[in-house]
Amino acid sequence: MPPSRTRTPPGWRPQSKAVGSYHHPVGTCAMGPDPERGAVVDSRGAVHGVRGLWVADASVMPTIPSANTHLSTIVVAERIGAWLAAG
Ligand SMILES: Cc1cc2nc3c(=O)[nH]c(=O)nc-3n(C[C@H](O)[C@H](O)[C@H](O)COP(=O)(O)OP(=O)(O)OC[C@H]3O[C@@H](n4cnc5c(N)ncnc54)[C@H](O)[C@@H]3O)c2cc1C
Repeated sequence: MPPSRTRTPPGWRPQSKAVGSYHHPVGTCAMGPDPERGAVVDSRGAVHGVRGLWVADASVMPTIPSANTHLSTIVVAERIGAWLAAG
C-alpha cells in the first residue's frame, strides 16, 4: 500500500483514534441524568430540554457493546418504542 498523502491538521485528533472503528460508531448522544455533565438523553431516550424528541439508536450506547451492535441497536429501539407506545 502506498504511503498516505493526506495529513492531519495540527491539533486535530484522527477520527480513527476517536471512534476506534468506522463500522460500529456509538456514543455520540450520551445517556444520563445530568445534561450539565454531558448527557444528551435521559434513561428513556428523551432529549434533555427538548419536548417530544427521543433518540433510539446506537448513539445512546456509551461504548461499543461486546455483543452484536446491530442487534443491540434494535433492542434499544424496541424498548424505547414500547415505552413511547405505552404513553
Ligand atoms: C461496513 C459495516 C459493517 C457492519 N457490520 C456489522 C455486523 O456484522 N454486525 C453488527 O452487529 N453491526 C454491524 N455494523 C454496525 C451496524 O450497522 C450499526 O451499529 C447499526 O446500523 C447502527 O444503527 P443506527 O440506527 O444507530 O444507525 P444507522 O443504521 O446508520 O441508521 C441511521 C439512519 O439515519 C439516516 N439519516 C442520517 N442522517 C439523516 C438525516 N439528516 N435525515 C434523515 N435520515 C438521516 C440514514 O440514512 C440511516 O438510515 C456494521 C456497520 C458497517 C458500516
